Amino acid sequence: MVSVIIISVLEKGYLLFYDIRIMAKKKQYAIGVDIGGTNMPCSLVDDKGKILRTIEKKTLPEQGADSLALRISESVKELLTYFKGRLKKGTILGVGLGVPGILDHKRGEIVTCPNLPGWKNVPIIKLIKQKLKMPVLMDNDANCAVIGEHWIGAAKGTKNAILLTLGSGVGGGIIIDNKIYRGSHGVAGELGHITIVAEGALCGCGNHGCLEAYASANAAARTAKERLRKEEVISTLREKDINKITAHDIFLHAEAGDIFSKNILFESGKYLGMGIATFANIFDPDIIIIGGGFSDAEKYLLPAAIDEAYKRAFKHVMDKMKIKKAKLGNNAGMIGAARLFF
Ligand SMILES: [Zn+2]
Repeated sequence: MVSVIIISVLEKGYLLFYDIRIMAKKKQYAIGVDIGGTNMPCSLVDDKGKILRTIEKKTLPEQGADSLALRISESVKELLTYFKGRLKKGTILGVGLGVPGILDHKRGEIVTCPNLPGWKNVPIIKLIKQKLKMPVLMDNDANCAVIGEHWIGAAKGTKNAILLTLGSGVGGGIIIDNKIYRGSHGVAGELGHITIVAEGALCGCGNHGCLEAYASANAAARTAKERLRKEEVISTLREKDINKITAHDIFLHAEAGDIFSKNILFESGKYLGMGIATFANIFDPDIIIIGGGFSDAEKYLLPAAIDEAYKRAFKHVMDKMKIKKAKLGNNAGMIGAARLFF
């Protein structure tokens, strides 16, 4: 409660007292954790989406779920210790997790995680609650990213938004009528696993020809390696150990003028555009956001993607729908995971 007294002296010499009592809303906070394949940043986030402090530990998925739960609770305890006495008691609402896998929300379990091998039916919420006496919520990592972008990022102010994260794979998240769409079984938004090439390259999910197998950073690296081994192409990428070429190398060489590298990125963009056309026709969203590390090559990917999407999707949708790069970068997942509490 805040009390404000305003004294106003009128011309005639009267004194007026206004006692305005304003219910000051207590500021609230939540902790967001983004469980990646390698690193696991953990942040205290305020109710406006601002990150106040981040602690980053390794994920070390090979050490198992108990060890991960222990390291998450250690990060959280370090944050709580740092903010003890600095924040009002009871204003940190809980811990939100962004998990890279298929989740069972009712049971609080990770059903399966393609990037955390051997992780099946892990009761992650229970494991963390045993170590921390705090509420714990979770969502898929790409869902958390689109929740973050919709809250304070590239999709702020829109009603319907789609996010595609281009990294080692292709993740997806869907906002419909300002809410995350999880589907009937919690699996909705696996946008990287729509088929775009019949009998195409094998995907990590077991299907052939998925968008992920053509528009991800790993797919670009795979295509470049295959062509450099088989074909008589001229490229500055040959200066490198072909087996170690990454999408980032391809981007750097494209920037230095290598035509082969540029064409690999344009091709990734073309396949991305096929996916975008499909999502535009299904969802008719206000915006499709492209995030993830590979989106740093946007100057090559996006023009090719927009060209291709225009050829395939309804013009009426394409003319109105925006296609933009994500705004929050690597922080989107943590911010979205914390947002689960607000
Ligand atoms: Zn797939």
